[in-house]
Amino acid sequence: MNKIAHVGIAVKDLDAALALFRDVLGLHVEYRRVVPDQGVEIVGLPVGESEIELLRPLSETSGVAKFLEKRGEGIHHICFEVDDVEAALRNLEARGYELIDKTPRIGSDGRRLAFVHPRSTHGVLIEFYEKK
Ligand code: ZN
Repeated sequence: MNKIAHVGIAVKDLDAALALFRDVLGLHVEYRRVVPDQGVEIVGLPVGESEIELLRPLSETSGVAKFLEKRGEGIHHICFEVDDVEAALRNLEARGYELIDKTPRIGSDGRRLAFVHPRSTHGVLIEFYEKK
């Protein structure tokens, strides 16, 4: 585990959230992009070695839309940067944790990532993200 790559925050309206995170807290927007396979639009705002990742659902069926409906806006997931996503998955699987991704998927920036189900991780959706 190298560092927290980012903390994902589910929001209803990215521009309203940027009025806080960018305009008031002074964070800089490094990227803003649509990730169709996850059904979200994301904005990345670096803070030191990590980032805040704001997520907005693209449709009512996306996972983030369901999260907002159930729990409202707030912290959605924590992403850890690891050297090897596959090894991180096998480690948890061997100990009986419930994986969302049994094999890594390729992220919008070409890096490998995978999610672990919050049901088995104390309510926290964990993402592993592979180092470049
Ligand atoms: Zn993430």
